[in-house]
Amino acid sequence: MENLLGYSLERMTDCFVARGQSKFRAKQVFGWIYGKGVLDFDKMTDVSLSFREELKRDFCLSLPSIIAKQVASDGTVKLLLRLEDGAKVEEVMMPYDYGCPICVSSEVGCSMGCAFCASGLLKKERGLTSAEMVGQLLVMNQVLSEYGLRVTHINVMGTGEPFDNYDNVMEFIRIANCQAGLAIGARHITVSTCGLPEGIRRYGKEGLQTNLALSLHAPNDKIRNKIMPVSLKYPMKELIAAIKDYLSTSGRRVTFEYILLSGVNDTLECADELARLIRDNDLFAYVNLIPYNEVKEMKWKRSSKSSVSAFHNALLKKGINATVRKEFGGDIDAACGQLRVKYEKQQ
Ligand code: SF4
Repeated sequence: MENLLGYSLERMTDCFVARGQSKFRAKQVFGWIYGKGVLDFDKMTDVSLSFREELKRDFCLSLPSIIAKQVASDGTVKLLLRLEDGAKVEEVMMPYDYGCPICVSSEVGCSMGCAFCASGLLKKERGLTSAEMVGQLLVMNQVLSEYGLRVTHINVMGTGEPFDNYDNVMEFIRIANCQAGLAIGARHITVSTCGLPEGIRRYGKEGLQTNLALSLHAPNDKIRNKIMPVSLKYPMKELIAAIKDYLSTSGRRVTFEYILLSGVNDTLECADELARLIRDNDLFAYVNLIPYNEVKEMKWKRSSKSSVSAFHNALLKKGINATVRKEFGGDIDAACGQLRVKYEKQQ
């Protein structure tokens, strides 16, 4: 039975109109699901009984189930979810002063092979449907409601490469952003790619006001090739060309994500090279420096506090807009993919 959760308002409208219903009917059902959080067709009392019966016959409203839940002392919530076919995905919410952003997975496992990433330890099985991504959001909202909170921002930055599952990710964004439902502002939604030029250009043409983050993690091909195999296929020159196209078509800024790995990409020379890369290419960019969450199965070490600070200051001195990401979830399996890897091992 098909899950109605994956339907954007546009798709739901087309579907209902084809069944002889008015456009308004779709708005009503969409509002019940996403505005009021009602996942039971019987409770949609302003929808005719006969159409509710039809919906019950042909559709379900099914959420992923929670396998494991970790809540850190700082309020970070991490969930391991089971999907309908038994596949498992992770999501996390980090409590900031400004709200409750979640990091959503877009695939089961990931084949991009970034050397430092726990998610990459489990190869890609499949892309997630829009229903499964919306499901992550709704389940987190249910958990947060216990604390009187709700999801305010979305980062498609969990397990998986979003542009490898482009259409489903865009459908998910349309659902989350829709004013008739969850109404999460476009500027509160970020898609993060490891660097697929075609996806970057396509995303720039969507006409959305959402954000793009690029997991850069190195200032040159030599280092990037060592830690991100995608760079062998799409070297820096190609990536920067795609970013320039994105910036000019979208009129938006790009965020460069940069995980600092001790002795790998955290020297002052790297900081200088990164600053030159941004300035020489005249990129409207912001750098988000991320202290690495060490993963037991991996050799990479986090940079010392003094290296992080020196790197940050070197960028600022060169006029680059940069911040160091606040750390969360120190007493739980905070790194992306870590909880699922741990669970699979225990099994
Ligand atoms: S960092 Fe992202 S793209 Fe790279 S392996 Fe991990 S999940 Fe995949």
